[in-house]
Amino acid sequence: MGLFGRRKTVFVDTDILVIGGGMAGCGATYESRYWGRDLKIVCVEKANIERSGAVAQGLYAINCYMGMQWGENQPEDHVRYARNDLMGLVREDLGYDIARHVDATVHKFEEWGLPIMRDPKTGRYQREGKWQIMIHGESYKPIVAEAARKAATQIYNRIMVTHLLMDKSKANRVAGAVGFNVRTGDFHVFRAKAVIVCAGGASHIFKPRAVGEGMGRTWYAPWSSASAYALPIEVGAKMTQMENRIVLTRFKDGYGPVGAYFLHLKTYTQNGYGEEYESKWYNHTKELVGDYIDRHPVPTCLRNHAFLEETKAGRGPIRMVTKEAFQDPHKETVGWENFLGMTIGQAVVWASQNIDPKYINPELTTSEPYVMGSHATCSGAWASGPEDCAPDEYQWGYNRMMTVDGLFGAGDTIGGTAHKFSSGSYTEGRIAAKAAVRYVNDLGKALPEVSEQEYRGLERAIYEPLENYRVGRNEIVAGTVSPSYLLPIHGLQRLEKIMDEYVGGIGANYMTNSKLLDRGLELLAMLREDMSHMGAEDLHQLQRVWELNHRLLASESVTRHTLFRKETRWPGYYYRGDHMKLDDENWHCFTLSRYDRDTGNWDMEKAPVYHIID
Ligand SMILES: Cc1cc2nc3c(=O)[nH]c(=O)nc-3n(C[C@H](O)[C@H](O)[C@H](O)COP(=O)(O)OP(=O)(O)OC[C@H]3O[C@@H](n4cnc5c(N)ncnc54)[C@H](O)[C@@H]3O)c2cc1C
Repeated sequence: MGLFGRRKTVFVDTDILVIGGGMAGCGATYESRYWGRDLKIVCVEKANIERSGAVAQGLYAINCYMGMQWGENQPEDHVRYARNDLMGLVREDLGYDIARHVDATVHKFEEWGLPIMRDPKTGRYQREGKWQIMIHGESYKPIVAEAARKAATQIYNRIMVTHLLMDKSKANRVAGAVGFNVRTGDFHVFRAKAVIVCAGGASHIFKPRAVGEGMGRTWYAPWSSASAYALPIEVGAKMTQMENRIVLTRFKDGYGPVGAYFLHLKTYTQNGYGEEYESKWYNHTKELVGDYIDRHPVPTCLRNHAFLEETKAGRGPIRMVTKEAFQDPHKETVGWENFLGMTIGQAVVWASQNIDPKYINPELTTSEPYVMGSHATCSGAWASGPEDCAPDEYQWGYNRMMTVDGLFGAGDTIGGTAHKFSSGSYTEGRIAAKAAVRYVNDLGKALPEVSEQEYRGLERAIYEPLENYRVGRNEIVAGTVSPSYLLPIHGLQRLEKIMDEYVGGIGANYMTNSKLLDRGLELLAMLREDMSHMGAEDLHQLQRVWELNHRLLASESVTRHTLFRKETRWPGYYYRGDHMKLDDENWHCFTLSRYDRDTGNWDMEKAPVYHIID
């Protein structure tokens, strides 16, 4: 048995289990305590909540703040904005629910010590754009984590959750989760009355532009490994808009953010010949999407589209014109500080490539696609809406409860609600927690029970890659290729290649069609077969194996959804070559999927989009 002979099983009983202690998870933990004074509240996180999730390194702006105290924006305005950006398709009830509460969240952050910049003239928060306020946000995550730590009964850091547990007697009810400690190897069984999944989105399911030594450098956090999707998918929760992957225009090679540059520094883009190019693609884009190109602001995907077309026409590289703005010392400082608070790597890339933006206009690029629920994109679980404003068809229980009883979600986990960002994700965590506490209180004596057979079976599966490696490594004397096991990095690269070539990644110029998607599904199924031969040398590699498992299941979902939606709704994010136009008549709807783990089948259906805001 060697190193793992001493592995313990740790049992934890709790009322509420929060999976993932990022922005949404910290919000859920904090709010669970507010409504559930006497409840046991546990948060489990695969890293350490002090510096985990997409906000780990800090942020320079909070991207979702209404400013209702000063009459700047109303929640209805935000719904209109998100709807427009997502080409008409958002869950307006969920978006409205976040927007009406998000300001209160931001005020709490300030109370807890987050420095928010103020406009010296008005005394209001300094705006970067209509929705963004500027912060000194290097310590954003530790500040938010502190409040969660104080609220929780216990935080379990360094535990990767691999599976949800279901109730022994009620098939569609969640009963907890299992995972392992990535440092000690201990097996953890969490028995819970309600579970809130807040495990972030997915990077590294499509091949990244950065390869080799730079592979870890992606726009989206490399540790966001699709658990937010795989955990609910595996237990049969309905998912929505999984085809709506996001592609970002960012500074080349460092993926540095451009928001502050466009909005605050008022920089703009040019093609390789110093020409404005977006307007040239107006007629062409109008042919594809009709009036959506006339909307203000122009939807994010359509701005990508002009960039991609101009580059395909041979007039790259596209550059950000910084030389003018950087002559102003204040703007120059803001330009650099923007990276120091959020993406230090971009400053390092510029230094290493002799780029001083005061004298050279830096290149931009479009990223590989990512799957998220909180940015200018809205993939995720299909959730029940708020009682007071969700249409009947969107309500089947408690707010933010998925189609599985007792299973809630927030942040990147929940679909249909774009543009919530850090503050909105935290707010959604709070909303989900309030509902989860009510669910727990309403349970009475009808408590869920876990089956020992189920968690012991999962335990065997979880640690199997260690055993595969232990046995199989004797067949080779050197190198990393073995006849009887596959290492996680090999599996990951295979997944990324399939997704890139068949499902519309960078290598295919974001293009796909039904033939490619069908073949992609066949190749994903072959990878799935090989997953039982994964080998893990140590606990770190074991975590990689389970991250790959989660990425694979989420990828399959993305591929199924992309195949189902027979139109190109978001040119610039991806294209269906066999259905190049937006088709409002047939596809002004949400796509929903449900996976059946017993049969391996995916059921696909459409759900109506209700416009509750004029
Ligand atoms: C590059 C980038 C820049 C951004 N810039 C801004 C900005 O300027 N302003 C702004 O307001 N917002 C910004 N956002 C958006 C913001 O970061 C997200 O909206 C927010 O972090 C989403 O919250 P979340 O809780 O869903 O995910 P996260 O905050 O990413 O948290 C997910 C957590 O789950 C944990 N986890 C994952 N899998 C497991 C597992 N299996 N078991 C246990 N734990 C797990 C992770 O370690 C992590 O702690 C940006 C996002 C990115 C990626």
